[in-house]
Amino acid sequence: MGYYAGVDLGATNVRAAVADEEGTVIATHDRSTPQGPAGIAVTEAVLGCLRTACTSADVAPSEIRAAGIGSIGPLDLAEGTVDNPANLPDSIDRIPLTGPVEQLIESDQVFLHNDTNAGVIGERFHSDRNPDDMAYVTISSGIGAGVTVDGNVLSGWDGNAGEVGHMVVDPQGRRTCGCGREGHWEAYCSGDNIPEYARMLADESQVDTALPLDDPDFSAPDVFEYAGMDQLADHVVDQLVHWNTLGLTNIAQAYAPIVIYVGGAVALNNEELVVDPLRDRIDDYVFNNVPDVELTTLGDEVVLKGAIASAITDGTGDRSRMRS
Ligand SMILES: [Zn+2]
Repeated sequence: MGYYAGVDLGATNVRAAVADEEGTVIATHDRSTPQGPAGIAVTEAVLGCLRTACTSADVAPSEIRAAGIGSIGPLDLAEGTVDNPANLPDSIDRIPLTGPVEQLIESDQVFLHNDTNAGVIGERFHSDRNPDDMAYVTISSGIGAGVTVDGNVLSGWDGNAGEVGHMVVDPQGRRTCGCGREGHWEAYCSGDNIPEYARMLADESQVDTALPLDDPDFSAPDVFEYAGMDQLADHVVDQLVHWNTLGLTNIAQAYAPIVIYVGGAVALNNEELVVDPLRDRIDDYVFNNVPDVELTTLGDEVVLKGAIASAITDGTGDRSRMRS
């Protein structure tokens, strides 16, 4: 019996799992992501979660044949690190990942991916519908995509091919993104940015609203909760669908996926308002074959399951490449 491990490293939580050679999870462990003092604290948290998951599974770390890691970026794949992650404090400069995990499991079979690439690997391995050309898009605190073309997972320079949240969708650049540039997709549609975007639309449109725009705790879920009952909330939701349609259209034109799976908290919690309308509208924008748009089949475990699938399939998610 061979054992495999997966890690989902997010800005908020770290999760690790030990699985059997079919990808069935035996044990998991999670904790909050350390916010400092330095990147090595995050490395230690990842190793700690892996050790605890191994203990729970009654598997020695050295019995793990291979591990996959789905991580926040930006990555430096050659070094096996995360460098200056945007959503963690500045003191977290560099997070070593591949090397320390290799040492722990005593194997050089450690596959590092950005989290959305882990997502598409998870969909490819687990979904009934898993053509060679497919994409996974997360709409969460940020926006990103993982894409397979001709069966190859695209990773790009330093592993950052999936940073589609920073594609310009609004040439007028009315919103400044967290990265400092203007008009980026996630500056409008990520969970972190929806409240400020709603305030901007309120100023522009001057429609009456019951949304608590001035409350410092005003958040994306408030907008979706008021949808159908509030003119401004409906306007915001409609604009989100507009920008999300442009983002998905750009992905469809660039990579020609047959199916696009959509995940992330904003999509998972609001399928009817966020995902369903995309299916109708993308038809009006895509020139070539129009991809199917589906909610992820793996919920909020898509990155963790993709990391495990990567370990089992040599970093590909391709079931025909499962180790035996
Ligand atoms: Zn940006």
